[in-house]
Amino acid sequence: MKTENAFVVGVETAAYEKETGKKVMKFYIGQPDFPTPDNIQLAGIKAIVDKKHGYTASLGINELRQAVAKYFSDTRHVKILPEDVSIAPGAKPFIPYAVLSTLDHGNGEVLYPNPGFPIYESATELFGGRARPYRLYEKNKFNIDIDELGRQINNDTRLLVINSPQNPTGGVLSLDELKAIAKIVLKFPELWVLSDEVYCQMVYDSEFVSISSLPGMLERTIIMDGASKTYAMTGWRIGYAANKLLAEHFGTLNTNIVSCASHVVQCATVEAVEGSQSVPREMVETFHQRRDAIVQLLNAIPGVTCLLPGGAFYAYPNVTEACKIVGAKNSEEFRIKLLREAFVSVTADTHFGPQVPNDGQHIRFSYAASMEDIIEGMYRMKAWIKSYQK
Ligand code: PLP
Repeated sequence: MKTENAFVVGVETAAYEKETGKKVMKFYIGQPDFPTPDNIQLAGIKAIVDKKHGYTASLGINELRQAVAKYFSDTRHVKILPEDVSIAPGAKPFIPYAVLSTLDHGNGEVLYPNPGFPIYESATELFGGRARPYRLYEKNKFNIDIDELGRQINNDTRLLVINSPQNPTGGVLSLDELKAIAKIVLKFPELWVLSDEVYCQMVYDSEFVSISSLPGMLERTIIMDGASKTYAMTGWRIGYAANKLLAEHFGTLNTNIVSCASHVVQCATVEAVEGSQSVPREMVETFHQRRDAIVQLLNAIPGVTCLLPGGAFYAYPNVTEACKIVGAKNSEEFRIKLLREAFVSVTADTHFGPQVPNDGQHIRFSYAASMEDIIEGMYRMKAWIKSYQK
């Protein structure tokens, strides 16, 4: 079984801080550094006091399914009904749920982005499916190579995973790219799309577009989103998905595995989705400023080059030259040295699937960290690399 290494690096970082007594600048995890907005916290407290303490329907409470259906319809410009919506403890469960309900007992293939969120590959393999990466090359600005994707899809492919804005590259799929993907998908009647849209609110230079809004795509797209990133609710564990045909099956999977999402958290999430969006909007504005700052600071570090990511809260610099300067043979060795010698914690490209051949060494910074930490972290990394140049 594979894993999500950000959690492993988190434990390693905490242990190293304890061992050395020195504060590490933490950029390893995709978790907003803001507290959950007050109105959502209060709705959670109210739900506890109102004794919302029991199980709910496996698919979620009606109020939340209604709120999410409206949110999906408004933001994706499609018609989603409450009965198309399923609620789970986080968006993550929908990855194995999508695999389990589109592959026939593991029979079939899942195409997933590489580099990409590691759970697409690990969940597919865990449930016996064949996971095949499609590459996102830096030389293509981490865009999907549509011709290559077209060649990879075959009659055995049951699920195509797309993720925009993307983790770890921050790439955002344009309308033209989505149209080209849809054109390929529509040629294969048994092919589903899992559209992981958990960063859809964090797009800086363009408009977010969901593949579900393209002609013929709504029925076969599993729209996946959640409150973790948008509302700084990672630890509350709540996510939502929409697909007319699969909602019922996602409910049965919930019944088998988790029963339902927490009742209290579901009530708080109704407030998150329906309440004022001003605080989440301010968070996005802050991420935007941090993106500009971190990319500029990274590009000023010897041996480091970084493209400007269009969304999410990740920067994915190329550190091939920096590896040579500090004597690291690859990105993982670089990451470990950066932690141990410069007290800066990040993840490496190898934590996001197999390393893309001939595309260099990369590390991922989550800039869901304060501006002070970003400045200090970049200062430490620059001074560390320069110390080797001397
Ligand atoms: N999908 C992507 C691309 C992610 O980066 C993450 C979290 O890092 C998730 C899904 C899981 O989100 P959740 O906390 O809602 O389970």
